[in-house]
Amino acid sequence: MNVPFYGHVRQYHNIQDEIDPNIQEVLESGQYVMGPMLKRFEREFAAYHGMQYAVGVGNGTDALWLAFQALGIGPGDECITTTNTFFATAEAIWIAGATAVFVDSDPRTNCIDPSKIEAAITPKTKALVPVHLYGQCADMKAIRKIADRHNLLVIEDDAQGIGARGDGFRIGELSDAVCTSFIIQKNLGCFGDGGAVVTNHEKVDRIVRKLRNHGSDKRSCHSAGYNSRLDDIHAAVLSAKLKHIDEWNALRRKWAARYSAGLRDAGSFTLPYETPGYYHVYHLYVIEMKNAEHRDPLLNFLNENGIDAKCHYPIAIHQQEGYPWGKDARIAGNVPNSERNAASCISLPMFPELTEDEVDQVIAKVLEWNRNAGVA
Ligand SMILES: *Cc1c(COP(=O)(O)O)cnc(C)c1O
Repeated sequence: MNVPFYGHVRQYHNIQDEIDPNIQEVLESGQYVMGPMLKRFEREFAAYHGMQYAVGVGNGTDALWLAFQALGIGPGDECITTTNTFFATAEAIWIAGATAVFVDSDPRTNCIDPSKIEAAITPKTKALVPVHLYGQCADMKAIRKIADRHNLLVIEDDAQGIGARGDGFRIGELSDAVCTSFIIQKNLGCFGDGGAVVTNHEKVDRIVRKLRNHGSDKRSCHSAGYNSRLDDIHAAVLSAKLKHIDEWNALRRKWAARYSAGLRDAGSFTLPYETPGYYHVYHLYVIEMKNAEHRDPLLNFLNENGIDAKCHYPIAIHQQEGYPWGKDARIAGNVPNSERNAASCISLPMFPELTEDEVDQVIAKVLEWNRNAGVA
């Protein structure tokens, strides 16, 4: 039995009778860019977060750097983040003209380690950019305290954590802006690229709205801006899917629990860690080999046996040859946890539309490799 990594088409078929009429509505309206469907989805998406404003943009990377720009983050400013994340987190800092400073991640959650942040703060530090990696919230309470102590902005990279919660806090509650991606493989995915900035600051909403549309908030009047809009067809898909996101996240948690029960006794790797009281939404289910040299053999074995396992992310950002370092981007101290994570991570298939048989097949193959390798 082959087990795919994603279930995009399964998901489409499951709710085709909700998506198709929404798309049809856009097609018939003739309003495909900045039309009523986009406005509707923006309202729904802000409400989902319990926040006041949501602005649809072209993708998650733009969401990040447009939010940075709206918050006045630019050349000469430093943003503290992590190096074991998708490249776009740092790329957005670079696009905004600011400088990325990487601190190490927590060895269990792989999110930014708050205890490492203060040592990295300089007079140039302007913002903290935590990533809710793999679908689990970073420790926002600790991050907020540090931000308050040093008068810093906080921008959440929530491309992977839609619907996640912390211990007594929601996403968006402890920050200045939440930046999301709707590329198809994310927990809430449109049929292409998309993103959003969610905020309670009227000013951030107003500026991002203007920047995304050629610096225009009034017909024919422009200031320097960009073109980064969320198309109405994507908004139509997202509006239909948003009604299901909590149910889909619950399914992801169900499959994660099944993996963790089935793999509990396998000694060659550690299972994903759930911070007590947090609601992890398992954008990815990532195991970490105790011996990094076992990573590629297990990954290859799974792939050869029809199981589409992957790695997120095998090369940390500071290890990327092509990282546009600029003159100042740097690692603060060293980042052994992030480097260990990059060298030893494997992502098992994870999407709501998995079946019990598929999950059990993945478990069986992982255990088979363990036995063959003598590391069970
Ligand atoms: C996907 C992702 C992004 C970027 O989103 P795009 O829509 O691809 O631009 C940013 N940060 C993280 C952590 C992501 O996973």
